[in-house]
Amino acid sequence: MYDYIIVGAGSAGCVLANRLSEDPSVKVLLLEAGGPDAQKEIHIPAAFSKLFKTACDWTYFTEPEPHLDNRSLYWPRGKVLGGSSSINAMIYIRGHRWDYDHWRDLGNPGWDYDSVLPYFKKSEAQENGPSAFHGSDGPLHVTNLRCPNPLSQAFIHAAEQAGFQRNPDFNGVQQDGFGQYQVTQWEGKRCSAAAAFLHPVMRRPNLTVKTNVQVFDIIFEKRRARAVSFQQGENSAQEHADREIILCGGSVASPHLLMLAGIGPADQLRTLGVPVQADLPGVGENLQDHPAVPVVYQSIQPITLTNAESISNVARYMCFKNGMLTSNVAEAGGFVTTNPSSPAPDIQFHFGPGYYVDHGFQKIKGHAFTLGPTLIRPTSRGRLKLRSSNPLDAPAIYANYLADSRDMDAMLQGVKLARRIAAAQAFEQFRGVEMLPGPDAQDDAALRRHIERYAATLYHPVGTCKMGNDAMSVVDSELRVHGMEGLRVVDASVMPTVIGGNTNAPTIMIAEKAADLIRGKGQTEAGSDSLLSGVGQRTR
Ligand SMILES: Cc1cc2nc3c(=O)[nH]c(=O)nc-3n(C[C@H](O)[C@H](O)[C@H](O)COP(=O)(O)OP(=O)(O)OC[C@H]3O[C@@H](n4cnc5c(N)ncnc54)[C@H](O)[C@@H]3O)c2cc1C
Repeated sequence: MYDYIIVGAGSAGCVLANRLSEDPSVKVLLLEAGGPDAQKEIHIPAAFSKLFKTACDWTYFTEPEPHLDNRSLYWPRGKVLGGSSSINAMIYIRGHRWDYDHWRDLGNPGWDYDSVLPYFKKSEAQENGPSAFHGSDGPLHVTNLRCPNPLSQAFIHAAEQAGFQRNPDFNGVQQDGFGQYQVTQWEGKRCSAAAAFLHPVMRRPNLTVKTNVQVFDIIFEKRRARAVSFQQGENSAQEHADREIILCGGSVASPHLLMLAGIGPADQLRTLGVPVQADLPGVGENLQDHPAVPVVYQSIQPITLTNAESISNVARYMCFKNGMLTSNVAEAGGFVTTNPSSPAPDIQFHFGPGYYVDHGFQKIKGHAFTLGPTLIRPTSRGRLKLRSSNPLDAPAIYANYLADSRDMDAMLQGVKLARRIAAAQAFEQFRGVEMLPGPDAQDDAALRRHIERYAATLYHPVGTCKMGNDAMSVVDSELRVHGMEGLRVVDASVMPTVIGGNTNAPTIMIAEKAADLIRGKGQTEAGSDSLLSGVGQRTR
């Protein structure tokens, strides 16, 4: 019936659905467990945390984290067209050149920075225009915030006063320094992967999109993936793929699906009564994420996002798509190397002109701002395990944050740096009392305790189906599942190491490159010319 079946319409799945269906001679089926992206909070940038723990969210929790006070941490993941790109904070960051050169050095030819840059550019519609680093002709709008908060400007200024340089483009010549984040927005609304890549092509006759369809198994003929089984309402059904089945379920669901289909650590699968198709011990292993910790100050000026839903701000948004509701919350940030032996920055800051603790669930009266130092080069590794053979049981998540003491050390440096920046003169007219960690937390032991009690995911789990050629890798450098035919994984789970930055743009890049690999085109097909001209292919 179909040439390609794509499982999951998230950041990667929407790109693939678009690119593969560009060829009118192939038939593409895109299956998404969540619903259409109709909810208004998806499209209003500042409202993203209102989607947490709703029908748009898988609402995962980790197992108790032994190094974080045995807390079970909440992990949002998008369950809707656009996937996590429909509920994320819209920061557009690619990572560091070193990240991709490192992927190549780990045994993945074609994934070095110079090879992937054309794919970043191909996707991009950069508001500031094309350059050696940016594309202006792609479907994904990358823009400057329409209405940055004065506190975000103060943060950047304070970082300069604390001795750091200003960086006008984290995705350009260098990553180090502090500045305003660019966001995936268009005309004041979220530009998710669905908005950028899927909606413009939904009417293609060779593309079928089914929502509210949860895939729970892959059917094989010998080693070849032939079909998927899925649940739709009360019923189950199957669809067949002539060429390939491509898993784009993200870092939790893709390894989960592989294990349910019998591809994973054989002993674990047998114990749970799952017939083994292939013993791939790396499935679900190598889990890496970015933990962040809040450092919060009272704001003595009532100018924070607490006002975002005031009548005047709602009216401003409704009439002009402007004002505080266009904020992505984490408006500004920076990249710093705290460990001299780190090859690239190891701490990233996410500055929010508001009180952002416990994913926005904790509320306060009054005004505050949050500096969120984030560990972006974790040494600790976690894993996912199949809990049962029931596809509706989420896998057990062991994030294992800060298991390696070097990670705690870097976080500690991050908290100290946050305080140094907050103490700078630029914040003088805004800064009230320190709310977290609080004035009583003075020595390292107290700051470590704060980290243990408050660190949370910055939403970037990757690596659970890592690309490579060692015994623990799951896919090869063309993203084909080792030992199988007609089966690929294309999403954030294939990253061998987490990149130093936010993971949406890198996932979109992975899917852009995968589309060329699937179509049998080399990596230069994205247009080595676009390396210089910044012009990629246009889809609408
Ligand atoms: C709250 C939050 C904030 C974030 N903020 C940022 C940010 O500001 N900037 C940034 O760069 N990154 C951010 N990220 C991370 C980024 O959004 C993700 O890394 C990226 O979207 C991952 O893309 P993916 O394609 O791997 O998975 P996803 O986008 O999660 O897509 C997976 C899709 O597969 C579907 N699916 C899963 N299982 C099945 C199944 N069995 N059958 C059918 N469909 C299935 C899911 O419903 C989902 O739609 C954030 C993430 C979150 C959750």
